[in-house]
Amino acid sequence: MIIRNVRILGGEPVDIRVADGEIAEIGPGLEGPETVDGGGAIALPGLVDLHTHLREPGREDAETVQTGTQSAARGGYTAVHAMANTSPVADTAGVVEQVWRLGREFAHCDVHPVGAVTVGLEGKQLAELGAMADSAARVRVFSDDGKCVDDAVLMRRALEYVKAFDGVIAQHAQEPRLTAGAQMNEGVVSGRLGLTGWPAVAEEAIIARDCLLAAHVGSRLHICHVSTAGSVEIIRWAKSKGWNVTCEVTPHHLLLTDDLVEESPVGAYNPIYKVNPPLRTRADVEALRAALADGTIDIVATDHAPHPVEDKETEWSAAAMGMVGLETALSVVQEAMVETGLLDWAGVAQRMSVVPARIGRLGGQGQPLEVGAPANITLYDPSARTEVDPSAFASKSRNTPYEGMTLPGRVVATFLRGRATVLEGKLV
Ligand SMILES: [Zn+2]
Repeated sequence: MIIRNVRILGGEPVDIRVADGEIAEIGPGLEGPETVDGGGAIALPGLVDLHTHLREPGREDAETVQTGTQSAARGGYTAVHAMANTSPVADTAGVVEQVWRLGREFAHCDVHPVGAVTVGLEGKQLAELGAMADSAARVRVFSDDGKCVDDAVLMRRALEYVKAFDGVIAQHAQEPRLTAGAQMNEGVVSGRLGLTGWPAVAEEAIIARDCLLAAHVGSRLHICHVSTAGSVEIIRWAKSKGWNVTCEVTPHHLLLTDDLVEESPVGAYNPIYKVNPPLRTRADVEALRAALADGTIDIVATDHAPHPVEDKETEWSAAAMGMVGLETALSVVQEAMVETGLLDWAGVAQRMSVVPARIGRLGGQGQPLEVGAPANITLYDPSARTEVDPSAFASKSRNTPYEGMTLPGRVVATFLRGRATVLEGKLV
């Protein structure tokens, strides 16, 4: 198959020949019996998400492996890491293998289960990390995401344990006592609205502690969804010491602020903006963008968090936290980082494909588009303008904060090892 007229990382137009799931040839004027016209789209290595909630098993009313990976493919992803806070929790070899098998059977992209750090995400006892690592799912990323591993001794043991198989602990940094009952970012807006504040220090204190712990035991630490300027400063310091710390930012924390809880097109107190960690201030957003540009923040991860309507369309205090994100991630990153001149497409490819695959230790993903590489390819038209219509999502859930907004860009096609999962913006 020939994919004609694409611009790799935004470069000069070329054609790509795909054979046996790999890139066989790159050049002008390639001929073949089967062709796909790229129409001058940008070609990126297939995107890799380190932080996706697929909800299966247990909450198939919100999302399944099938619908979540359809959503991923439409967003240009060829691999996702499925978070462990399912029901049952993915804290045994049996459950991670179940998710992995569902991925092999139904998925429109590769599915790599994340293993829980502690049994039942309860923060009391280490889960069987070694058995999950040795399982068919070959788990390398462990996280209690949704909850923080707040016991320093358990966190230390987990960091020590995963060294044996080159694993990484992905921490959801939220000091639980400082955030008891917290509803939104602690600041002037929470004060005006009378909602319990979620202070930046609750995130920053855990990040500082865990950077020190990771350095102490010489292990690999990843920080999920960094959301404050102070977190960025701590991670910049930890990296300057040469410590093995990586981190991610979500698209929504690069674009949205806590003012939206007070005043937005959908009114005040709209739970569509309720998310963990909370939306922060404009100054935080600017710091996160600068940190993603200079490499202090390594990657963009979606934290795609589908919820059924009844869990979101309720009063603020009762609503579930989280937003779907797979189908809008690349457009939001274009808006926040590319249109602002902070990143070029090579920079986007690093942060949304190459580096997340490296952190997750995925051999066949996140490779530059070169001859011999797996044909995991995303074609993206940055000149398109799309009004976000949640009813058109492949995801089972609709809880997007971008409904009705016009965002730049459109995923034209996605190829997983040479097989189209999306063509002309539609699932294949
Ligand atoms: Zn989280």
